Amino acid sequence: MVLQEDINLLKEKIEQADSIVVGGASGMSAASGFIFYYQEDDVFKSLAGSLAKKYNRHNMFDLFYDQRPSRGEQWALMLRTIKYVYECQTGETYIDLAKLLNGKNYYIATTNQDAQFYRVFPEERITRIQGDWRYWQCSRPCHDKIYYNKEETFKLYEKIENDALPDNLIPRCPHCGAELAPWVRSYTFLQGEFYRQEMKRYMEFLRSNAHRNTLFLELE
Ligand SMILES: [Zn+2]
Repeated sequence: MVLQEDINLLKEKIEQADSIVVGGASGMSAASGFIFYYQEDDVFKSLAGSLAKKYNRHNMFDLFYDQRPSRGEQWALMLRTIKYVYECQTGETYIDLAKLLNGKNYYIATTNQDAQFYRVFPEERITRIQGDWRYWQCSRPCHDKIYYNKEETFKLYEKIENDALPDNLIPRCPHCGAELAPWVRSYTFLQGEFYRQEMKRYMEFLRSNAHRNTLFLELE
């Protein structure tokens, strides 16, 4: 339980701070009800379809990391998850945080890949350390580019049959022909120009506020 005096203290610290650095992690989304990554809820059941039972898995991360689903099945899971990321409601925790930080000098560094911060905060104040489901990269990766995937995701989503995307429709790299992959943390996660620019922006915020009264707000 959160004590009222803790809430008051936090409000006071936010008021007094010259700058605020927010570290946003999975709890921000879980507290808003986005728990299908880790738990067997209705969202998970609808995204997983028959694959949950077929592979006896009870949350999305377990299914993602399972080696048994076919490529087409894995793509069906990814496409449904990405579509959900685009379409789901904005979490209350994010709306509340935006109210708290309104008018403040703040910056957000997040490990969340679900793009919820982008619903309520300007892009230039966010650095995504673990990527973002709304982009694809070459799975190798053979070149330094990420691709915004909204249109393609919705198009391919319609082509899913029996909980699998047909193999010939799996999105491929325009340069080398390898499969594309979500731009999220993995062994082949692309930390290229785009990533470096965002990290640089974050570092610049830290540097420019180094001698000011900075509040580090860890929301895990
Ligand atoms: Zn490639």
